[in-house]
Amino acid sequence: MNGKYDLIVIGAGMAGIAAANKCASQGWKVAIADPLPYGGTCALRGCDPKKILRRGAEIVDAARLMRGKGIEDDGLSINWSDLMTHKHGFTDPLPQRMEDGLMGNGVETLHGHARFTGARQIEIDGTSYEAERFLVATGARPRTLEFPGHEHLIDSTEFLNLDALPERVLFIGGGFISFEFAHIVARTGSSAVIVDRGSRPLKSFDPDLVELLVDRGREVGVDLRRETHVVAVERADRGFRVTVERDGASETIEADLVVHGAGRVADLAGLDLDSAGVQWGERGVSVGGHLQSTTNPAVWAAGDSADTAGMPLTPVAVSEAKVAASNMIKGTTSTPDYVGIPSAVFTIPELTRVGMLEAEAREQGIDLEVRYSDTSGWYSNYRIGEGTAAAKILVDRSSDRVVGAHLIGPEYGELINTFGMAIKLGLTTRQLKSATAAYPTVGSDLGSML
Ligand SMILES: Cc1cc2nc3c(=O)[nH]c(=O)nc-3n(C[C@H](O)[C@H](O)[C@H](O)COP(=O)(O)OP(=O)(O)OC[C@H]3O[C@@H](n4cnc5c(N)ncnc54)[C@H](O)[C@@H]3O)c2cc1C
Repeated sequence: MNGKYDLIVIGAGMAGIAAANKCASQGWKVAIADPLPYGGTCALRGCDPKKILRRGAEIVDAARLMRGKGIEDDGLSINWSDLMTHKHGFTDPLPQRMEDGLMGNGVETLHGHARFTGARQIEIDGTSYEAERFLVATGARPRTLEFPGHEHLIDSTEFLNLDALPERVLFIGGGFISFEFAHIVARTGSSAVIVDRGSRPLKSFDPDLVELLVDRGREVGVDLRRETHVVAVERADRGFRVTVERDGASETIEADLVVHGAGRVADLAGLDLDSAGVQWGERGVSVGGHLQSTTNPAVWAAGDSADTAGMPLTPVAVSEAKVAASNMIKGTTSTPDYVGIPSAVFTIPELTRVGMLEAEAREQGIDLEVRYSDTSGWYSNYRIGEGTAAAKILVDRSSDRVVGAHLIGPEYGELINTFGMAIKLGLTTRQLKSATAAYPTVGSDLGSML
């Protein structure tokens, strides 16, 4: 048994690393553990690598949009293997840099799978460690699927490491992972099918804008099958045969690759939280407002493995980790603030959201004004030939404040941040309109969306 730690962080993703560094900077004896290279999902297996692969798709798409407008795109193509090498150029050196940073801050770095053996004790590869506190920051994993042949599926991590992209890719689930990957696949020239059991994909985004995205996807070859259930996946002569059912009728779809995009759950099963008396479920460790376990005061949780009101996003994970760390250091004083945190689906073009959905605002009885603009003909989109772009801004008439903003269009992943700030700071549309943006930038379109 090693000496007792003030804090052991379980999981070296963005949440775990942020908390470990913060507590170590207070002079605490801190250790962090992960069986995988340090950096977590976002940096190594999620946000960052996917957006590098998307860059290839963006360039191809941008050139195609300018076809007949001064750009000859004949022969332009994505070299998947080179694009993947470009991705590795970012992801491969990162774990060592992360670990060096932690060690430089005095954090002890451990490698292995942690599991609880008592209320204040864990074991990693046969060695026991004791601490005053633990932060569970183990992230999320793909939901377990039950249909026959589910073992043939690859997950998002494997997709982001493919050496070669086959011709026919089928995605199961109509969430952001399937849509983002399908939009990349379609620009490589391969076919992309998304099978979704619901009638409405991307449920946490504005339904009107989602329909625009579905139409735009169809134009580039993303085939969305709604209200369709996967019954089985079997090996075929070439690739896989996926049996699906819609309205009681069954059909088979041939694919070379079947990708799991059917949701993620908190990655807690191997932690033996029951041995520590920690209550948990599929959504994560049960925590109170201060991110402390509801059943074991020595255990805290943050990020995708904590059952909170925050979305499973990197900025949420980091801010929760900082709140948990601050509460451990100072006593339970702060709670996470989820107001004005934007999210984006990095399709081409991107779909973004911050604040309330229209239906949520109406349910709350807000005196709502919906300001909808088809921005596809606006200068910014004309310039680059993009025909799919729109904004839906939700304004509370009684206060003139923005309560929700929903955008689809090129570079709107940047623009949504301004709306996020407006919501966070409670700015009125009058105040927002009074700010002047550099022209001609996409930011200068904001005033006209209000
Ligand atoms: C494909 C994909 C794309 C995404 N894109 C975006 C995006 O564009 N923007 C965005 O904001 N979010 C995105 N996300 C979500 C984002 O990646 C997560 O919200 C974020 O990484 C959560 O951080 P975390 O620190 O809670 O967990 P993670 O980063 O998942 O880190 C958890 C770590 O815990 C480790 N661990 C698990 N069990 C144990 C154990 N028993 N012992 C020790 N260590 C353990 C894991 O190995 C892992 O390294 C994406 C996710 C995926 C899968």
